[in-house]
Amino acid sequence: MIHILTPDVYNRIAAGEVVDRPYSVVKELVENAVDAGATEISVEIESGGKKSIRVSDNGCGIARDDLPRAYSPHATSKLEKAEDLFSVSTLGFRGEAIASIASVSRMCIVSKTAEGEAFSLSCEGGKLGEVSPAGGANGTLVTVEDLFYNTPARLKFLKSDAQEEGDVSNMMARFLLSRPNISFTYTVNGKVKYRSFGDGLPAAIAAVYGTDVLHNCYELNADKHGIALRGFIGNQNFSKANRSYQSLFVNGRYVVNQTVSAAIANAYGAYLMKRQYPFYVLFLDVPAEIVDVNVHPNKADVRFADNQVIYGSVYSVISAVLDGNSRALEYLANVPAPTAAPTPPHVPTSPQTEMSYEQAKKELAFDVSPVGGSSYFPPARSEFTPNVLEVREPAPAPQTDYFEENRKFLAERNKKAAQERLDPATLVYKGELFRTYLFYEAGDCAYLIDQHAAHERLIYDRLREKCEKRAVVSQPMLMPFVLTVNPQEFAFLEKQFPLLTELGFEIGEFGGTSVKVSAVPVELQGIDLNAFFGEVLASMESLRAVKLADILKDKLASAACKAAVKGGERLTEDEARALVEQTEGNMGLKCPHGRPIAVKVKKTELEKLFKRIV
Ligand code: ADP
Ligand code: MG
Repeated sequence: MIHILTPDVYNRIAAGEVVDRPYSVVKELVENAVDAGATEISVEIESGGKKSIRVSDNGCGIARDDLPRAYSPHATSKLEKAEDLFSVSTLGFRGEAIASIASVSRMCIVSKTAEGEAFSLSCEGGKLGEVSPAGGANGTLVTVEDLFYNTPARLKFLKSDAQEEGDVSNMMARFLLSRPNISFTYTVNGKVKYRSFGDGLPAAIAAVYGTDVLHNCYELNADKHGIALRGFIGNQNFSKANRSYQSLFVNGRYVVNQTVSAAIANAYGAYLMKRQYPFYVLFLDVPAEIVDVNVHPNKADVRFADNQVIYGSVYSVISAVLDGNSRALEYLANVPAPTAAPTPPHVPTSPQTEMSYEQAKKELAFDVSPVGGSSYFPPARSEFTPNVLEVREPAPAPQTDYFEENRKFLAERNKKAAQERLDPATLVYKGELFRTYLFYEAGDCAYLIDQHAAHERLIYDRLREKCEKRAVVSQPMLMPFVLTVNPQEFAFLEKQFPLLTELGFEIGEFGGTSVKVSAVPVELQGIDLNAFFGEVLASMESLRAVKLADILKDKLASAACKAAVKGGERLTEDEARALVEQTEGNMGLKCPHGRPIAVKVKKTELEKLFKRIV
């Protein structure tokens, strides 16, 4: 039943120009089909959607008497009272899309409910025709022709056919991904571009990006603080040159959200090169009370009641999986869930009991590091990056001992990582190139190590490990460092004293708005403290939504880099040997900025270069 919203309700909904481009028309029509409960939706466009758009579905249909009402503004079957606004589960609820599309095009709706006959009703430039009997199966077919034919100014504003088509296609891709149980057919100028069969997310991802992508992804199925995160994320070696491979759906809606993308980007931090972006198709489901979807209708964003909780949850799940720490097991799909068996005492990796949202808020505000220490090196090379297929365990027996599984899993991963590692003793130092690259020979391979990158990585790892174990050693300074800042900056820094202390700084007030640093983490001795605090304070503004500990760790890492041996400095032979020993032969490591520390050259590759072999 379609009814007209009262002004009281209507005025509380963010208003907005819904329809300004072909893609926004397609979006509204497909959303209506989804809201109608369709399991099959077909979309056809011509000339980038300017000439025609046809969307048909097998949903609930519109009854004869409701057809005219569908065209009237503020008419919706989806929302009645203002209170409903806080719990909308449908994609549409403003009741204005059809009215506005119909006013700027030649539109026709043919629809049939299961109980009734098929009827059609056309509308040209806002002038409604007559309801007339039609033929057709259950469901609705909406045709929009000559978009903006009566508003030349808007028509002129459109981009080329190809560009409009591209925008429609991107959006259709997101529909396929967000509704993997609906079967979509998307046709452009008579040619099928995307087709899915409603048989699940992996198949939908394959339909949009090709099957290979799946082999490079982890599949998540995580619950943290009442927030569910599922979907696929690219592994450490699978990144893209732009953000168009990132899809986030919050409670089923496609969304671009600062907090979540910052959390994901920071979790990937060390694994990504500059200007590389992670791949992800993620579904974030949160209780309706802590998210506001009623932002501007043309902005694909939502507002969260507490960004810290969202940030913390997303960050800790994704970083656990990427860093391969023991918690990853809880967050990956198809890993046995903890059984109801009584919790054995003193098990270090015991799965965290779920916290309430309120508890989570408290915990995350003070959380210094991602929970759980990483017990082995992060997988960093494609050959031994375990993707979801490898992580899958054989189907567990009914009473699987979760802790036993966990232990085996970790032992297996440690063993694998160890096998991939070289014995540093087998690496024979052969000299250096350009005062930057160290040369080593091992068996039939040569390794070139970027001394700067390697050193950075080692310092970074040591620091993180110590932060996590809370075992940072402070190095008192001969001359305390005094920093005078403005009152706001002082207030901000003062709040970070406990965290900084935990990270190995000895820091306190020094009268007025000055702070005194009298000790630094031993790894950071000799760094430029002015530059370090400069960076911390520079990010003060952007920190509000974000957990400081993560940023600080980033800052520590970059400070580590500055403090690390620079390319261009000549190392002694002993230093070069010591460096490679400290890598424990792990040639797959990357520096904190994502650059590889080592490059392997096989003897056969050299022989090919010299045409000794072909
Ligand atoms: P909203 O989606 O915000 O309710 P619209 O203007 O998009 O507003 O649609 C108005 C009404 O028309 C909807 O509430 C729904 O009852 C009906 N409607 C539109 N499209 C369809 C469809 N494909 N199948 C069934 N009903 C539809
Ligand atoms: Mg709608």
